[in-house]
Order: sequence, then C-alpha cells, then structure tokens
Amino acid sequence: MTKIWMGVNPDVEVNNVLGDELGLISTPWSNPLTSYELHHSQIESLVGLCAKKFEWEFIIQPQVAPKPPGMNDLALNMGIAAHQAVHDILKGGETAKIDEAYDRWVLPCITDPTKEEKIHDEYQLNVFSALDWIGNNLNYSQISSEQPFVIPAAHKLSPVLADIDPRWKLAGSMDIIQLDDANGRSKIVDLKFRGRSQYARNKASSQAAMYGLASFYYGYEPEFTYLEVIKGKVIEQKVDLPAGKYDWLYIKARQAISNIETGVYPLSPSGWWCSSRYCKWWSNCRGKYEPDTDEGNEDL
Ligand code: SF4
Repeated sequence: MTKIWMGVNPDVEVNNVLGDELGLISTPWSNPLTSYELHHSQIESLVGLCAKKFEWEFIIQPQVAPKPPGMNDLALNMGIAAHQAVHDILKGGETAKIDEAYDRWVLPCITDPTKEEKIHDEYQLNVFSALDWIGNNLNYSQISSEQPFVIPAAHKLSPVLADIDPRWKLAGSMDIIQLDDANGRSKIVDLKFRGRSQYARNKASSQAAMYGLASFYYGYEPEFTYLEVIKGKVIEQKVDLPAGKYDWLYIKARQAISNIETGVYPLSPSGWWCSSRYCKWWSNCRGKYEPDTDEGNEDL
C-alpha cells in the first residue's frame, strides 16, 4: 500500500461505507467563507483555471440576466443528462429514466429540430456505452453511484496544510466507486462525456488525488480511472496515485484556501476558458478586453 502522511480520524471504522459513519454529506458549495468545505472543482477553478471566475461566482455574485439554454449549452447538458441517466440506472431505475434525463436537460438546448434525432442517438449511445463498460469491468454488488465523501480536519493531512483553519474539510462526490471489503481495495471511476479526449487535463487535475485520498481515509487502497465517452466510444485512462500526487493536491489545496482566506483572486485571461462561451462572467469582467474570438475548447 502506498504510504502517505495523513491524519486519519481514530474514530472512523475503516470498512464502513463512505461518509455514513461521520454523519456528514457533502453538499453543493454555497459560501466559501462559511462552509469551510473544499471540493476538487473549486481547487481547479481557483488554481488551474481562473481565480477571478471563482470570485465572480461565489463572492461577488453579480446579477446576470438568465438566458434560455441554447446550442452552446448542449455539450454540457448532454453530459449532465448522461451522468444522471447512468446514476438512475445503477440505482435500479427503469430504462425510461434515460429519456427522462434527456427530456429535462438536452431537449431545451436544441434550437434546430433537424438535429434532434442525431443528438438523441448520440446521447443514447453514450449512456449505453458507459453502462456496458461498467457491466463488463465492475461488480454491481459492490458499487455505489454518486457517492459523497468528507475528509474532516484537512489541516492534519500534511505539514503543507498544518496552518490552515482547522474547520477546513475536503469533500466531494464520486461518480462510481467499487468497494472490495475482502481485499481492502476500491476502484473509482469518473465519467467524462466529452466531444474529444482531454488526456493531459485529466492527468493534471487534482480530482484523482482527492478521490484517492478519500478512499484511503475510509480504509481502501484506491485505483482511479477516468472513463471518457466520446460519441459512443469509451476511452479508459488509469491515473497512477504515487505519494507525490497527494503532495501536489495539498499544495494546490493550500493555494486555494489562501485565495479564499485572503480574498485575493487573481484573474487569468489567457486560457481558452476566458471567452463568452465558457465564462458567464465575461461581460462583467475586465479580465479580457480584446474582442471575444470564442476560440473554445470543449469540456463537459
Ligand atoms: S472573463 Fe476571463 S478573467 Fe474574467 S473571470 Fe472569466 S475567465 Fe477569468
């Protein structure tokens, strides 16, 4: 088992299902100044993308006129619907749930009715491909879907985090985790429904380390896989979790917490995400005052 320096809560029984024994459920981020709960997506937003975007979203919260969903939201909403459908089926739902998710998330984005059939077919193919892979590679009797986790007392995890407020915890929700109690091992799978593979971005994300850490915390040695589903094709990417990966997570978490605690949110206008297509604060923000070229990069 990989050795990492971490402060495991002595009150935790390691073989319990994630989160249950603590009576804590990770909830959607509401106010970073009062919740003290850090999710990997917030770390990536603050450290990997644009801290200013985080500030607009959670601190400044300006009123942005709501707009009806359109083709720009299609890829994102197809991903949301496919996640929902897979989750519903793994929870024992009827296959009708697949179309329910489609009707809710995807249909309102379709502005050109001639494309509807093609979009529907691609969506269904994605969902069935993901379910096929799960059926062929995991043990249904051991898996949990949309599994929340909480690692309290983040300051005990590493000397890098030793001086943060002790109320900080790391939290999140795993798409799929298989818990093998007999061998003390877990298999974590994160689904990405995408327009194209983003191998490097997956590898650089703190997500695998955060989820791996949660698995260790609850007593299971983790294995982490990104499952990219692209137009029905499944690409499997295993991510190694050596000790250095956790150190990297701690450094990034420390930076994210510093941003939040000091209220300093540097803007980062040089990435693909800084466009009207990918940043809804673009028209409020003076981060980028060149004309918007909309040279985007797809992500779900
Ligand atoms: S417009 Fe650009 S600089 Fe401003 S918040 Fe969005 S991504 Fe950051």
